[in-house]
Amino acid sequence: MIFKNALAYLGRERGFVKTDIKINDERIESVGNCTESGEDCEGKVILPGFIDIHIHGCNGADCTDGNPRSAGEMSRYLASRGVTSFCPATMTVDEMLLRDSFVFIRETMGKEEGAYIHGINMEGPFISPAKKGAQSEKNIRNPDIGLFRELNEICPVKLVDIAPEMPGADEFIEEAKDICTVSAAHTATGYEEAVKAFDKGITHVTHLFNAMTQFGSREPGLVGAAFDYKKNEIMCELICDGIHIAPASLRTAFSILGNRAVVISDAMAASGLPDGVYSLGGQKVIKQGAARLPDGTLAGSATDLFSEFRNLISFGIPFDDILYALTLNPARSIGVDGLTGSISEGKNADLIVLDEKMESIKAVIVKGRKVF
Ligand SMILES: [Zn+2]
Repeated sequence: MIFKNALAYLGRERGFVKTDIKINDERIESVGNCTESGEDCEGKVILPGFIDIHIHGCNGADCTDGNPRSAGEMSRYLASRGVTSFCPATMTVDEMLLRDSFVFIRETMGKEEGAYIHGINMEGPFISPAKKGAQSEKNIRNPDIGLFRELNEICPVKLVDIAPEMPGADEFIEEAKDICTVSAAHTATGYEEAVKAFDKGITHVTHLFNAMTQFGSREPGLVGAAFDYKKNEIMCELICDGIHIAPASLRTAFSILGNRAVVISDAMAASGLPDGVYSLGGQKVIKQGAARLPDGTLAGSATDLFSEFRNLISFGIPFDDILYALTLNPARSIGVDGLTGSISEGKNADLIVLDEKMESIKAVIVKGRKVF
């Protein structure tokens, strides 16, 4: 497959370049003038495919709903929204259902019809009841490296969440950091404890601002620790639906974080569907614009990365920052940036073809295959 004369985004240094892209099998073979004929993309924009490393569900499916077909359904729907790879995120559910979900996701991997799966984002059960958000309290448990190892044997985990104040968290972080990215999440931890957890090996923060201690004048909180920590890069997830984080806070966060910002959807089954009553990790969720538990707590989101891309442009975030936060930064945060995340020779041909104004998706290519 060859795309001719497309306006392709080739990174911060080069920006948009009018070029040809030659795809050989699953990979990008060359970016630049190509003498062979191909599909004329005059007037179209090509971006690297978006990567959603934190998504529970969409289009009626949820990867922890006990249905073996859910992860496959997510894969198909996500491709229609410009997402070319993802990490299905499990919830704080009972152990039996958690194990089943791992089995079902593993069985889906390699057979995806749309976006492909990198591995699991394990959000819970090792979180704090004090900041549980929409996670079920009765299924929260103390960090358990044995259980984590068993689950990782069933299906590879790319990212695991932990509340650093929970008993056994230090030992857990030390062992888990050699297996996957470890993220601070759903936690009441303050600034000092957060810095210690970063020293131990946490390199990521789950949905920054949500379900954590906030940035204050005398209490910098986990948000302040994530902004300020210097020994390692701390990658920070941001839900950019305009509801979870106000546009002004997003502009501030993007300017502080630069290449450490990671846009996630944190979407649940109602994403892509009309307002109504849905379920998330066994809890009733009402979607009325936003998705909430009956008590009003935000319960995941009903957005997707393409809608967030459009939001971020309208919020006035610099285009390079937006694009990196949808592609290369998430890839880097889970260690797959050698495979995907940019339009580069040798990487997977994961691409989105858009109209000139980048308002609508014309085609989505996943590993060299047109899936939308
Ligand atoms: Zn989530």
